[in-house]
Amino acid sequence: MSGFVRLSPVLERAGDKVFFECPGCRMLHGLNVESDGCPRWTWNGDVDRPTFQPSILVRYEWGQQRTEMTCHSFVTDGRIQFLDDCTHALAGQTVDLPELES
Ligand SMILES: [Zn+2]
Repeated sequence: MSGFVRLSPVLERAGDKVFFECPGCRMLHGLNVESDGCPRWTWNGDVDRPTFQPSILVRYEWGQQRTEMTCHSFVTDGRIQFLDDCTHALAGQTVDLPELES
């Protein structure tokens, strides 16, 4: 497992994936932008104001109750637009990608 390489204040990379901090989930989401694996996203190559296509859909279970969480977003020009089907507090909002913790 290779380590994370910081690309910019908001993006880092490990292997074939780039990661950003999701302010709704308060965790990193990683996107496969390199290999032919599936799913795969296109990236505009901008490390400060990234755009990824298509939308990013993350489902996971959270906490002791194993609550079903959904996070569905578009990242465009360094901003993250959360769609209405998100289960977290930022559903329906568009915010800047947060800076990664150092
Ligand atoms: Zn999220």
